[in-house]
This record gives sequence, C-alpha cells and structure tokens, in this order.
Amino acid sequence: MSETFKAILISRDADKRQRVETVDMTPDQLMDGDVDIAVEATTVNYKDGLAITGRGPVVRRWPMIPGVDLAGTVLTSTHASWRAGDKVVLNGWGVGEVHYGAFAGRARVSGDWLVPLPDAFSAKDAMAIGTAGYTAMLSVMAIEAAGVTPADGPVIVTGAAGGVGSVAVSLLASLGWHVVASTGRTEETDYLKRLGAAEIIDRAELSGPGKPLARERWAAGVDAVGSHTLANVLAQTKYHGAVACCGLAQGMDLPASVAPFILRGVSLIGIDSVMAPKPRRLGAWQRLATDLDLDRLRALTTEIGFDDIVAAAAQIVDGKVRGRLVVTM
Ligand code: NDP
Repeated sequence: MSETFKAILISRDADKRQRVETVDMTPDQLMDGDVDIAVEATTVNYKDGLAITGRGPVVRRWPMIPGVDLAGTVLTSTHASWRAGDKVVLNGWGVGEVHYGAFAGRARVSGDWLVPLPDAFSAKDAMAIGTAGYTAMLSVMAIEAAGVTPADGPVIVTGAAGGVGSVAVSLLASLGWHVVASTGRTEETDYLKRLGAAEIIDRAELSGPGKPLARERWAAGVDAVGSHTLANVLAQTKYHGAVACCGLAQGMDLPASVAPFILRGVSLIGIDSVMAPKPRRLGAWQRLATDLDLDRLRALTTEIGFDDIVAAAAQIVDGKVRGRLVVTM
C-alpha cells in the first residue's frame, strides 16, 4: 500500500470561492518532478498568507498545495545532482503557486530547483531563514554590490519586525551597519534591539505622502513595504546611496519622484527571490551560513505545528507575526 501524508490543499469552485482543507494524499497524486523529498520543516511567509487567505493572486493553478519553502531529505532521485539521503533546501521557483508546494509531508520537484542544506544549518534553521531571510540576504548583497558600506552612514530597514525585516536587521548589524529599524510595533523595541538595531523609528514617519527630497538620513535601505514608505526612504537617502526594494506590505504603488535619482545619484535595486538564478542562490546561502548569527536567528523564530499553518497565514497578512515562523512536520 502506498504511503499517505498530510497536505494542505487550496481549491476553488465555479464561482472562484476558495476552500482550504487538510487532506490525506499518496505520492502518486503529486505533480511531476525528478526528486522526491521528505519535508522536515517549512515556514509561513507573507506570500503563503496571501495564498491561503486568497487575499493576493499567488495561486495560479488549482487545486494547489501552498508553501514556497521547504527543507528536507531526498527520498528518491533520478536527477544527476541528488541522491537519497541528501539534505536540501528549496525556495520559490513557483512552488506553492503553480507546482505543489511545501505544506505536505512529501514533495516532488525538479532537482534543478534545489540547493544543498549548508552544514551550518539544521532543516529548522533553514526554514527560520526561508524565503524571507534569503531575500534579506539578497538585499544586503545588492547594497554591497552598489558599493555602499557601513562607513557611508546608517541603513534603514522597513517592516523591521516582520520576517524579511528581522533577518535584515540581524544581518546588517552583524556586518557592522548602524541599523535604523522602522516599525509600526514600537512595543517590539527591545526585540529589535536584541537583533542589533541601533535606532527604532515609528513607521508613521514614513508611511504618508512626503516631499520629493528630504533631509539625508541614511546611506542604504532594505524596504519590505513599498508605497509611500519606499518613496520617503528614497527621498531621505544620502548622495550615492542605494535602496533594495523587495516587498509591498503597504502597497504595490510607488508614489515617488525622480529627484533622488537625478539629484543625489541614489540607486533603487529590485530584488526577486523566486526566479533568482542558481549561482546567486548558492551565494546567498553561503553568505547566510557565514554572516547570520544563529543566536539572533533563534531569537527571531517561533516554532509552530502543521495544524497551525492556516491560522498563521491569516495572522501574517494582518501584520501580526513577529520575525519568522518555522513549521516542524
Ligand atoms: P511579514 O508580514 O513578516 O512582514 C511585513 C512587515 O511589514 C510587517 O511585519 C510590518 O512590520 C510591515 N507592514 C505590514 N503592513 C504594513 C503597512 N500597511 N504599512 C507599513 N508597514 C507594514 O512579511 P515578510 O517579511 O515575509 O515579507 C515582507 C514583504 O516582502 C512582503 O510584501 C512579501 O511579499 C515581500 N517578499 C518579497 C520577496 C521577493 O522575492 N521580492 C521574497 C519574500 C518576501 P512592522 O510591524 O515592523 O511595521
């Protein structure tokens, strides 16, 4: 008899009403792929929250097992790079959107999408990082590639108490930056200071309509929020500074002007984690293994069970999750 495993399944009726249920599945129901993985840990990202609540158009094939991140052990493989017993990590590539994802005991995926689990991390650590943390790392690398360094001035992180924000604060502090953390949850001041933030500002300072240019406050930024917040971050970025744009928690719009770019030579760098090519992913995971302080990572992580995923999905889109969530299977 074929082994069964639990999975979260999102389906939609003829009126496009969405239903989310936990079902028992067998491996023959999985989609095509050349590597089968026993999922050991996963996580709930903002995007998973949008998928499960239906508040954002993340799922593009129905029905779908959501979950964009997984860590686990290879069970079987016909892919040249992987064999049974290998520890692997998967972030993105449309998993949980168009290909059955991580919220299941087993996954069948393309071996091309996998990276090896770095020795420095357990499956749980890798999922405490997840797409959010790997995106934070890509953002930090983008600022470095723009040639901006801690000697140039402070860095601002928006959405600081969220997943991307918390990992970005930790990484940047470890790398010697003076980190300004922007948050709507000023009650999380102690938490953000423990992660290494030097200053906390209320996100209300940045979230309303602002001027095209304002006083220069920071040399760099990691923005998980978009909209007026990103416009104000740009307007307050120092001459030749760089801002990595990776999220849209406030909105997808960008009500900004060209002034910071043409008068201060500011760079705005787009960050995409989902389709990032493999060398960049490997580079980001190597940097996480060397630069991310594991004590800080554990301080920003909350562990939940498989049965808590659906409730956590609603909480994360309401901005109520602090740091990162890890799901152990
Ligand atoms: P979280 O929900 O964990 O964090 C988002 C944070 O944004 C919240 O914690 C909150 O921080 C802040 N926030 C929420 N709502 C608002 C609002 N209306 N106005 C201003 N700030 C707000 O999500 P993640 O960290 O997982 O993801 C953050 C963003 O990055 C999302 O938009 C996500 O889609 C995007 N993302 C993009 C990726 C890419 O490849 N480009 C990959 C991963 C994520 P606080 O309470 O501190 O104010």
